[in-house]
Amino acid sequence: MRPHSQTVKQKSSSDTEREFGGALGAVSITMFLPLTVLYLICVSRSPEASVFHWPPAAPVTEQLWDPLALLLLLAWIALHALLYLLPLGKVSEGLVLRDGTRLKYPINGFHALCITGVLLLLFMGLGAPLGCVFELLLPLAVCAIAASFLFSVCLYIRSFWVPAHALALGGNTGNPLYDFFIGRELNPRIGSFDLKYFCELRPGLIGWVVINLGMLMKEAELRGSPSLAMVLVNSFQLLYVSDALWNEEAVLTTMDIVHDGFGFMLVFGDLAWVPFTYSLQAAFLVVHPQSLSSLGAAAIIALNGLGYYIFRKSNSQKNQFRRDPSHPSVARLETIATATGKRLLMSGWWGFVRHPNYLGDLLMALAWSLPCGFSHLLPYFYVIYFTVLLIHREDRDERQCRAKYGLAWDTYCRRVPYRIIPYIY
Ligand code: NDP
Repeated sequence: MRPHSQTVKQKSSSDTEREFGGALGAVSITMFLPLTVLYLICVSRSPEASVFHWPPAAPVTEQLWDPLALLLLLAWIALHALLYLLPLGKVSEGLVLRDGTRLKYPINGFHALCITGVLLLLFMGLGAPLGCVFELLLPLAVCAIAASFLFSVCLYIRSFWVPAHALALGGNTGNPLYDFFIGRELNPRIGSFDLKYFCELRPGLIGWVVINLGMLMKEAELRGSPSLAMVLVNSFQLLYVSDALWNEEAVLTTMDIVHDGFGFMLVFGDLAWVPFTYSLQAAFLVVHPQSLSSLGAAAIIALNGLGYYIFRKSNSQKNQFRRDPSHPSVARLETIATATGKRLLMSGWWGFVRHPNYLGDLLMALAWSLPCGFSHLLPYFYVIYFTVLLIHREDRDERQCRAKYGLAWDTYCRRVPYRIIPYIY
């Protein structure tokens, strides 16, 4: 069979436009980030927990490979594929694609989280030692990274057999290294099973909270009960994951689903980076217990609450506006017309800064690190990395909005000059 994409004769400008530093950036990220995941896990369990200490003084028992880890990873992905296929929840349509069609997506991620919770309780009731996730963390990460590479290669190869309109505009540059990284096919599917949508919020995101729970159980095993810091980190992050899955439909309009192809960047991000680096605070607390005063805990809870409030309210306001601009909750907001027929919000949360949802997310990120104290940099890895990610994401989104909305976007930027933090950025 002849690969369809070879028949694409004319490339649009976005076909050749390169992000993330082009092919060199793509190769460097592909090599560097998996090693970073493994390094950070080693650092989190070393006595010094110093990101600047090489090699990290990990316990001698540390091992990279364990067949049990591979078995658990495969069982985990199979479980979530099964839960994805269960006829629970509603089915939603995505945005209109370039060929004028719309894909259907099952909105049952929150069901998957709840069923996973029940299954875990059952297993723990039967005596399954969830704390062993702590010992298996490194082999699990190795398997997730290997699976990400393998899966991305398969996705790259299969993308040569799909029609040209099914390719992501930005992932079709012709440079194999760059396209492998950024993703060629927009919505790879096996039948009605959408591989990108499945990976985006399920195995990795739910895996993250299960790893956290494993760390909590390990701490309880070692010290008799989990610490307040560990309970806070687990609760905050469980709230974040539950919120993402409760509002799963919103992912259908995100850059990841609408714009980006499904390549190594998203596969690795979803399956390895999120579960294994977002759980670093919990992993750190197992080896480096922290005492937290009630006042300190109350202040951190308030910060997380404030961040969550800004994050949720702003995201909901935009989603509501995009779904139904005449809804009473958004009908009175000031807006500006654009040449595309869509309007942009100019008041409310989106008149405060241009990305109020990122501001809320960053406040929460800080609240997740603070329970780990101030003695180490490692627990602040997430908030530092996330700031860089959101600044870069904001920049990408800004360029896409300027291309989409032209003059109207410039007017919006003049009216709302700050991007994420009022009067600062
Ligand atoms: P956003 O939800 O910020 O959406 C950006 C889009 O919103 C724009 O492309 C534009 O799309 C629309 N928009 C922008 N300004 C306006 C306006 N004034 N009025 C109406 N619509 C506007 O996108 P993200 O996917 O980046 O973020 C979604 C959430 O996910 C955020 O809360 C973010 O913090 C979070 N996130 C979390 C990550 C994590 O790892 N924890 C990673 C990435 C994101 P259009 O006009 O086409 O509708």
